[in-house]
Parts: sequence; C-alpha cells; structure tokens
Amino acid sequence: MIDVLIAGGGYVGLSLAVSIKKSAPHLVVTLIDGAPEDAWKKDERASAIIAAASQMLDVLGIWSEIEPEAEPIKRMVITDSKTADPVRPVFLTFDEGGVDGRPFAHMVPNVALVGALRKTAADLGVDIRQSTTAKDFKSGDHAVSVTLSSGDVLDARLLIACDGVRSKLRDAAGIKTVDFDYGQSGIVTTVEHERPHDGTAEEHFLPAGPFATLPLKNNRSSLVWTEWTHDAERLIAGDDLVFEEELERRFGHKLGRLKVVGGRQAFPLGLTLARDFIAPRFALAGDAAHGIHPISGQGLNLGFKDVAALAETIVDADRLGLDIGSLAVLERYQSWRRFDTFRMGVTTDVLNRLFSNDITPVRALRDFGLGLVDRMPSLKSFFIRQASGLGGETDPKLLGGQPI
Ligand SMILES: Cc1cc2nc3c(=O)[nH]c(=O)nc-3n(C[C@H](O)[C@H](O)[C@H](O)COP(=O)(O)OP(=O)(O)OC[C@H]3O[C@@H](n4cnc5c(N)ncnc54)[C@H](O)[C@@H]3O)c2cc1C
Repeated sequence: MIDVLIAGGGYVGLSLAVSIKKSAPHLVVTLIDGAPEDAWKKDERASAIIAAASQMLDVLGIWSEIEPEAEPIKRMVITDSKTADPVRPVFLTFDEGGVDGRPFAHMVPNVALVGALRKTAADLGVDIRQSTTAKDFKSGDHAVSVTLSSGDVLDARLLIACDGVRSKLRDAAGIKTVDFDYGQSGIVTTVEHERPHDGTAEEHFLPAGPFATLPLKNNRSSLVWTEWTHDAERLIAGDDLVFEEELERRFGHKLGRLKVVGGRQAFPLGLTLARDFIAPRFALAGDAAHGIHPISGQGLNLGFKDVAALAETIVDADRLGLDIGSLAVLERYQSWRRFDTFRMGVTTDVLNRLFSNDITPVRALRDFGLGLVDRMPSLKSFFIRQASGLGGETDPKLLGGQPI
C-alpha cells in the first residue's frame, strides 16, 4: 500500500515528496499531478525564495542545482506615489548586509526550481504520475481510498492535498474557507533593461496596488504588477505597444530602455484561508491551505513552511511506530502551522488595504510610518530578519538548515 499519496505536483507537492523520502526512504510516496508531463517547462515566472527556504532546499540537495540561476536580492527600495507622478519619492530602503551577512531572499526562475525538485524526487524513488487528478476520497480506519480522474482507485495511509488555491480535495473533505476577492489581478512578466539593477528589488505602491520589480540574472527583472482586474484583463489582451507604454510609466527610465522578454499573464488575487488543515487521513499544504496577496512575496514561502512542518510530523511519527494518518499525529502539524498562516494572511490583507488606495490622509499616514521605520535601523533589521524567515525558535528543523 502507498504510505503517502500527494495530490498536486507544484512546488509544494514536489518539495514535500522530496522531504519525506530524504529522511524516510522506506516510505512509499506517490505523487499525482493534473498537468501534462512537460507543462511546467512553459512557466516563465520567477519566485522570491527567502533565506530560510533556501536553507531547507540546501538540506534537500536542491539549492546547489538552482543557485547558479538564483539572483540575490541585495537591496530593497519602497516608494509611494500616484501613477502619473514624474518622480517616485523613496520612503524606505533596506540596504546590503541582509541577515547575518547573507541575502534575505533570492529570485529563482520557476523552471529551475521545479526542474531540480522533479529530478531529485525521481532520484529518491517518488512515483510521479502526470495528467491525472484526484477527484474524491473516502477515509477508513486503516486507509484512505482515492478516486482518480482515470477511474482508478488508490489506497494510501495518508492523502495530502497540494492541489492549489482552488483545491477540489479541500471541498471533498468538507473543509470550509475564509475567502475575500480583492478585485485585483497580478500581472506577471519579465523585462530586459539596458543598465544593471545591482540586485535591487523595488516596490512602488500605486493606487491600484503594488508594482514590484525583482532582480534576475543578466540585466533582467521579474515584474509583479497589481491592477484592478478589468484593467489587468485589458492590458493582457491588448496591444504590445500599449502594454509597454503603461509598463514604462510605472517602471521609469532609470535602467535605460526596457524590452518585454517574457509572456504576460494575469492571476486573480484574493485571500483564502482554510479553517482546518487536517481531517482523518487527510492534510492540506501550500495554496490549498492558504492563498494570500503577493504584496510581500511570501505565498510559496508559507508553503515551504508547511512542507517542513508536515514532513517532520510524518517522519517523527513513523520513527515512533505511530499511524501517520491518524488525527492525533496530524494535530501536531495543524497546531504548528495554523496560527502562523492566519497571522501572515491578516498581515498581507492589512498591507494591501493600506497601500492599494489613493485616499490622501491614509497616504500621509502610511508615508509617515514608512519614513519612521527608515530612520530606525534596529526596526529595519527586525523586519528584514522576519522577512528572511530565519531564527524562529519553534520552526521545523528543515527551515533551520537541519535534516529531519
Ligand atoms: C502574481 C503572483 C506572484 C507570486 N509571487 C510569489 C513570490 O515571489 N514568492 C512566493 O513565495 N510566492 C509567490 N506567489 C505565490 C506562489 O506562486 C504560490 O504560493 C505557489 O504557487 C503555491 O504552490 P502550490 O504547490 O501550493 O500550488 P500550485 O503551484 O497551484 O500547484 C498546484 C498543482 O496541483 C495540480 N492539481 C490541481 N488539482 C489537482 C488534483 N485534483 N489532483 C492532482 N493534481 C492537481 C496542478 O496541476 C498544479 O501542478 C505568487 C503568486 C502570484 C499569483
């Protein structure tokens, strides 16, 4: 029988499979994913990976493979202005130095990350099955029976749903969510510029939401550009020239001429928090448990924290001879992750509401706050350490760079 059946082969499902197999190679781990075999190779996006997550990827033997393509974020600049303003006044900067002498985050192309995870999972003996989805499941005393879109039924001791923010398995488990639609979409694309970015990430708070430029290798930057959904749809479907002109209005000319080098996609943005993370022989991880606004680039990093906590819960229980699918075992994972997730969900929600508007007194207040933080080095280092995810005393071992 399968020990752990993972539904969803995104970053979270794959890194969970690797984390479990690395420390408990005797467990039978099967991963099913709805996407066709090579779909991941078409993902042109990049993600900010915080220092704690890169420590975890290092323990899993993945970081060395992706490091040559990872661009350190050395400096962050935060501005707040109207879209048409000719200059974007800087209110807050985080300079080189990072945390304990290392960058608080790196930008990593998704293809590099998923490619390395898939290779390591296959090398460790994870059975990966593409183009099939989990439709429903039924939990029993000793196993969970999972019905696939192919009609096959797989029995496992534990089913883990990593099937993204619109998780069908979460619904099948009857787990309710707290949901909010921001009416915003995140436009994602890549640009090439004439001059180097010197490892600087910028976040411009504009009336429709944040416009973030994140450094990549070779004079390129990844953009996460928030717009009201109807404007985002117009920009995605519209003419290339209009798109580039609107982009230049926001990006400015400080890095010279810009050229869009990636496709452009828009993702609807919302807040989705699962009320429970577990049910008998069932657990949620990654976006299936929490979808948050990308304002702080922490969505995937929250998923990596789930992975570290869930893998440690499973491996420890297995070493003690406990039933890895029992609620008593899974409760440890839920209590580890639920509060942190809720806190991050609320923080990103408040930040988005505070910064995605053009109300003059609110703007004055937030700019005063940013300026205050900018003049307090100890507060700045506190924020940057928090953002790096390093040093949490109760964090799972993988995040602290320790094997399970
Ligand atoms: C615009 C934008 C920018 C972002 N930038 C960042 C960033 O810089 N840093 C960061 O940390 N996070 C970022 N995020 C968040 C990050 O992309 C997500 O948190 C991350 O993709 C979640 O990974 P996941 O594996 O949980 O889910 P997904 O990536 O959604 O993967 C789900 C997988 O499950 C499969 N699947 C679906 N249903 C089934 C089923 N029933 N059975 C089997 N398989 C199934 C799908 O094919 C897919 O492969 C951003 C998000 C957005 C929208």
